[in-house]
Amino acid sequence: MPTEFEPIIGLEIHAQLLTRTKIFCGCSTKFGTPPNTHGCPVCLGLPGALPVLNRSAVELGIRAAMALDCQIELESVFARKNYFYPDLPKGYQISQYELPLATGGHLSLHESGTDVGITRIHLEEDAGKSLHEGFPDSDLKSHVDFNRSGVPLIEVVTEPDMRSATDAKSFFMTLREILVSLAVNNGNMEEGSLRCDANVSVRPVGQLALGVKTEVKNLNSFRFLERAIEHEINRQIEVLKSGGQITQETRLWDTSADRTLVMRSKEEAHDYRYFPEPDLPLLRISEDWVNEVRRSLPELPSATRVRLVENYGLTAEQVEQLTRVKPSLVTYFEEVVKADVSPKIAINWCLGELTRNLNGRQVDKVKVISQRVPPVALAKLIKLLDSGTISGTIAKEVFEKMCGTGESAEMIVERDGLAQIDSVEMLSDTVNEILTQHHDAVSQYRSGKSGAIGFLVGQVMKATRGKANPKLVNELLRKAIEG
Ligand SMILES: [Zn+2]
Repeated sequence: MPTEFEPIIGLEIHAQLLTRTKIFCGCSTKFGTPPNTHGCPVCLGLPGALPVLNRSAVELGIRAAMALDCQIELESVFARKNYFYPDLPKGYQISQYELPLATGGHLSLHESGTDVGITRIHLEEDAGKSLHEGFPDSDLKSHVDFNRSGVPLIEVVTEPDMRSATDAKSFFMTLREILVSLAVNNGNMEEGSLRCDANVSVRPVGQLALGVKTEVKNLNSFRFLERAIEHEINRQIEVLKSGGQITQETRLWDTSADRTLVMRSKEEAHDYRYFPEPDLPLLRISEDWVNEVRRSLPELPSATRVRLVENYGLTAEQVEQLTRVKPSLVTYFEEVVKADVSPKIAINWCLGELTRNLNGRQVDKVKVISQRVPPVALAKLIKLLDSGTISGTIAKEVFEKMCGTGESAEMIVERDGLAQIDSVEMLSDTVNEILTQHHDAVSQYRSGKSGAIGFLVGQVMKATRGKANPKLVNELLRKAIEG
């Protein structure tokens, strides 16, 4: 019987903390400025410079740890991780090793129900960035940009609890959503603010001992993460099936070749000669501070999802769409409901017209829309539609104008004469006109093709620029034809 293999996956995620300044100095963390414009003796690793810990980096680390149900360690220790690389000016990175900021959390994946254990979360500084391209002398030299050197990071390390590339992707997406919702990280993977390494091994099904693992580095998109892990699982299974052995090594995902490549043989922890950072004291966190951060924690995305289903009866798909478009739309939707609109109608507007109008606009769309069309204004528009003052088509038109100018629905309807026409008197002339113009449709209807009425209604609606009450038009047309 052929051996079946089971993949085992653990992730290590580096997330840049959204602080204004670096973790051990006052230099700016701003992205996209010219190379080497944010540097000082501390983050350039000049001799004699001493690090001072940034309090808000610690606070953001605590927030993330709480959201992942970790235990906050009231005492933790910074450590030096020693290695030599051109983008690391001190020759060591200040990180945490034996006593990290937080331990023992977990995160449930709502897609698969897998519960992924969090081993630890620790604080550390980022390295600089080597630039190998884009200079006249790029074929001879590499350049280094130290703007990123000393930018605060947390590293989230999971237990090897995932059994498929899909689960790993789902974990990364869920974690990103949480970190963004807490304003801990900006979720920007292209700029490198959020990066993922995956530890992958396989073992014969039924075997308890773990197989030899490889680490795939720097996966900076959900798609790359999934494909790199899938590729690595298949590669390892093939090696084992053909009688070979897996070597513990670090691999890179080659986007263009769609495969992983060896980067270097894997370091062991002792290769880094970790020791406690002598220039920083023990990191002490008071119970009071922990409690204060806990009180300030916003609702987590998973709790929001449950609430949207329980309080408003939204479908799973509506919830998914609402929370994905932009979390601030959740509040918007709830405000519309509060203004006395049924959740069913409110959600249709939020996911329909509102989202459609947001897509056409630049910058902070939700903010723009909320200022021009606050939830109460949308609620008023919906009421005009509900009471029959305006038709559905006109309502959409009015909404678009509201998004553009910020005027109220009443004002636009009044000024542009958009109120629905629902008096027989006002419609009968138009109805008669359409009937004389379209003899064909009339005879079709008479010969039993009841669908022809739809065409005629459409013509009247067109002639009244969408203002006629379609139900009344339908009635009048039937009456006139049937005599
Ligand atoms: Zn600095």
